[in-house]
Amino acid sequence: MTATNLPSEPEFEQAYKELASTLENSTLFQKKPEYRKALQVVSVPERVIQFRVVWEDDKGQVQINRGFRVQFNSALGPYKGGLRFHPSVNLSILKFLGFEQIFKNALTGLNMGGGKGGSDFDPKGKSDNEIRRFCVAFMTELCKHIGADTDVPAGDIGVTGREVGYMFGQYKKIRNQWEGVLTGKGGSWGGSLIRPEATGYGVVYYTEHMIKHATGGKESFAGKRVAISGSGNVAQYAALKVIELGGSVISLSDSQGALVLKGEEGSFTPEEINAIAAIKVERKQISELANTSAFSSKFKYIPGARPWTNIVGRIDVALPSATQNEVSGEEAKALIAAGCKFIAEGSNMGSTQEAIDVFEAHREANPGAAAIWYAPGKAANAGGVAVSGLEMAQNSARVNWTQEEVDNRLKGIMEDCFKNGLSTAKEYATPRR
Ligand code: GLU
Repeated sequence: MTATNLPSEPEFEQAYKELASTLENSTLFQKKPEYRKALQVVSVPERVIQFRVVWEDDKGQVQINRGFRVQFNSALGPYKGGLRFHPSVNLSILKFLGFEQIFKNALTGLNMGGGKGGSDFDPKGKSDNEIRRFCVAFMTELCKHIGADTDVPAGDIGVTGREVGYMFGQYKKIRNQWEGVLTGKGGSWGGSLIRPEATGYGVVYYTEHMIKHATGGKESFAGKRVAISGSGNVAQYAALKVIELGGSVISLSDSQGALVLKGEEGSFTPEEINAIAAIKVERKQISELANTSAFSSKFKYIPGARPWTNIVGRIDVALPSATQNEVSGEEAKALIAAGCKFIAEGSNMGSTQEAIDVFEAHREANPGAAAIWYAPGKAANAGGVAVSGLEMAQNSARVNWTQEEVDNRLKGIMEDCFKNGLSTAKEYATPRR
């Protein structure tokens, strides 16, 4: 980044520095000096759109929020990336997410550029009608700037199939056009099968390749104790896939607290995960379930905490799947001390720079079989946007693929993501000093 007279954007600067320092520590700029200029070019968004969203609450009061779309890079295809509705949303957060999206989308091998958008609107505590009115107002402005060949938004935190539905309806109404302008749509009106599951399943497929590679094919998810944070779409489907592959899920969490197994044995069951998913649809907290006898006999609920330092017993795999900066340096050390060898981010920038430094320093000091494996979100969670890319392809061709077809393509893309990362690292990575 060259400009110094801009307001500080801590999250974007963190994401940029993480990438730039990794590239600086590699042989890329020696072998391909032109990439140094390319990094400067790619770090400035092609376009940033900011707008006012005015909507009416259930009391008839006018409410005002900020809306954004960062159209970061269109070298490989239409801008592509989700919309986040969360009170923490600002330009720094969306620039970090859009920047990550460029490289993640490229890694999928599909024709997608990078972008991100959203609003500081908080869906928590809002009625369905208020959410619908907000989405309609948001899309009334956003629809001027997007299109199937221009920019294709989707969901992210606070934006599910329901919100995508409200926004798609408004887009069609104003533009008088049915097109694949949003992904993550409902299955009966153009959505792809497996899109809701894709990010969580993809993280697990990616991690399975990492485990197999690290252990020479001897180990898999079977028998592994897996700590997961979050309880949204990514965490839910990652947890279900871990169980399907024979692993144990030993924690989940939300912004208010962590739910961990009381003992060293057992796992969340699919029924328990589905019960958590059901209260999340109603925008409620895990604490409401944690206090019921079915949950309180088996799980410990720790208000205000993240799972990592609260697990009883061994941790084999950690899948941060809540939000950015959810693993600190101290928590990274605690994960390693608990035996964790595989960390893969379902969330974007789940680990702080301090946590990444801990993982990398440990790896440097413990090569070979004792090494830990850390997969950043731009590789590990690419499955969500990959299936969004498949949804765009189905919409353009006016066809619907079967569940099996989409899942097989997702598996292939996640395998390629892992193998591509590995071969690129072999070619360009240098040991850290
Ligand atoms: N929000 C997701 C991500 O962070 C998916 C975006 C999309 O499907 O466009 O990758």
